[in-house]
Amino acid sequence: MDLKYERKNVYKHADGKQLEKIYEFSEGYKKFLDNSKTERDAAITAKKLAEENGFKPFSFSEKLKAGDKRYFINRNKNVFLIRVGTESVAEHGVRIMVAHVDSPRLDLKPNPMFEDSGMCFLKTHYYGGIKKYQWTALPLALHGVVMLPGGKVKEVCVGEDEDDPIFYITDLLPHLSGEQITKPAAKVIDGENLNAIIGGLPAVGEEDEKDKESIKNAVLKLLNKKYGMTEVDLQCSELCFVPAGKARDVGFDKALISAYGHDDKVCAYPEMRAIFDMDESSPHTVIAVFADKEEVGSDGTTGMQSKVICDVIETIANSLGANPIEVRYNSKCISADVTAGYDPAFASVYEKSNSTFLSCGAAVSKYTGSRGKNSTNDTHAEFMGFIRDILDKDGVIWQTGELGAIDIGGGGTVAKYIANLGIDTVDVGVPVLSMHAPYELISKADIYSLYLACLAFCK
Ligand code: MN
Ligand code: MN
Repeated sequence: MDLKYERKNVYKHADGKQLEKIYEFSEGYKKFLDNSKTERDAAITAKKLAEENGFKPFSFSEKLKAGDKRYFINRNKNVFLIRVGTESVAEHGVRIMVAHVDSPRLDLKPNPMFEDSGMCFLKTHYYGGIKKYQWTALPLALHGVVMLPGGKVKEVCVGEDEDDPIFYITDLLPHLSGEQITKPAAKVIDGENLNAIIGGLPAVGEEDEKDKESIKNAVLKLLNKKYGMTEVDLQCSELCFVPAGKARDVGFDKALISAYGHDDKVCAYPEMRAIFDMDESSPHTVIAVFADKEEVGSDGTTGMQSKVICDVIETIANSLGANPIEVRYNSKCISADVTAGYDPAFASVYEKSNSTFLSCGAAVSKYTGSRGKNSTNDTHAEFMGFIRDILDKDGVIWQTGELGAIDIGGGGTVAKYIANLGIDTVDVGVPVLSMHAPYELISKADIYSLYLACLAFCK
């Protein structure tokens, strides 16, 4: 019996075969991530994979039965994968896994286009918590949709193919940064200067030559040709700039992955794979959710504060002749979101013995919050004990920690919104370094551990 607790490094405990599985799993993840930079992209990818795995479209008016596999895509951004089990949902509730698929980025302003000094720009309004100075002088891709009059949707994705152009936000040269570099980091780049360059070639023709905005005219002509759109259509669009390019292995040993949007696709992928791969004989009814709007407060029709999750649970309950309140009360949830992994370069913001470490497995956090555990779901000991038992039974390597040292800052996840519904919920995620930076860092060992944790939860 181990009297003393010691954190375990997954890689140190993995044999050759396990190591192979860890690396193999991460290949699938990178592919998913590259195709899922925004919540809309993630919903499309999830739908495709769900169909490949035998899931059928869900309807609120259908009568579900044991063995049914369903997917529900709420407004193209919020995904519910449902697997109906054999046990009584009134007695055992449903097992829910939630992760969010929106990530910090630069959304377009409603009137974004202007020309200045030989360049055409799109103005942005940042989405989520970013350090603005990190988003300049790097290749950006444009993702999203534009609504044409009459309800036609045009999908836009430029900057990801080798042959695509990219977009670019400038920074100041060091030679003229005497004043800029003395400013606090929050003021180094002004939000109103996060304007992405989208063109530099003037239109030719008599009319255009007289016009002061001939570059803007030329870009609008290109956009019209490609998407059939005009400038005003941008007011009915959802377009955003995200870092261009693919996820990449990090280190000579390829133990880590750097990519845009690990937060929180690094949790969405394992929960999705778990509902696909879980044992057919499992008696549980399982729901995997991809949530939207987490980075801006989880509001709206597609955020976790929306009632849609209750409606899904109610549909399941009514189908199986159970009381929806009873089902919810007996349900259990893993809120899968990233946490701040310990970074030795910034040791002072962590309390080392209560931090999570890269490659030490899925991170189970009893609470998040800030300033004295404010605004958090502080999971009760009984449910922590339940989670510990199912993870330990399956030999899943996991760790626990807080999101940084006391009074340094803090943060939250969707856990509290689900817990507020009367559902036992705990945060189980993956430690990330450089969270919310254009390229974040995770360990392949941890995403695999989270996958095993989700599988154990579904079992
Ligand atoms: Mn997150
Ligand atoms: Mn986040």
